[in-house]
Amino acid sequence: MSDQPDVRYLAVVQCDIVMERCSGYYCEQAFHHRSGGFAAYPADREYRTLYLTCGGCCGRALHRKLANLKHKAQANEGVAADQIVVQLASCITKESYHGPACPHLGYLRELIAKVGLQTCDDTHLSRPAIERRATGEYRA
Ligand code: SF4
Ligand code: SF4
Repeated sequence: MSDQPDVRYLAVVQCDIVMERCSGYYCEQAFHHRSGGFAAYPADREYRTLYLTCGGCCGRALHRKLANLKHKAQANEGVAADQIVVQLASCITKESYHGPACPHLGYLRELIAKVGLQTCDDTHLSRPAIERRATGEYRA
């Protein structure tokens, strides 16, 4: 997964609804500092990154977006499918200030698998949300 030496490309998928009001700043910050869901990626290794949303409920657009990315990265730069990781943002994988985890998470995983890409969970993990998960205020 993320510690594989040949991973070259990270496609960070964020919730389309949440992105109506979020710039994605903390996702990028987490990648920059290799924290949260990016902690396993070596800081001294360069990765290409792409930030995109699921396209809106039910997330079906993600299939064609990722198929496009896979094709373009292969055709233009020789990036193989197993060198791409789809990183699901924390606003998709976990309950947070923005609301519950994505109700279509299983479907999103199915779509990503159908495109033939690997996936990792989480991006930015805020301290208050971690504490609320620990107390049970947030479910996951
Ligand atoms: S994880 Fe946080 S920073 Fe990233 S897109 Fe979702 S709400 Fe925004
Ligand atoms: S499918 Fe999930 S991630 Fe996409 S907009 Fe709907 S709730 Fe957000």
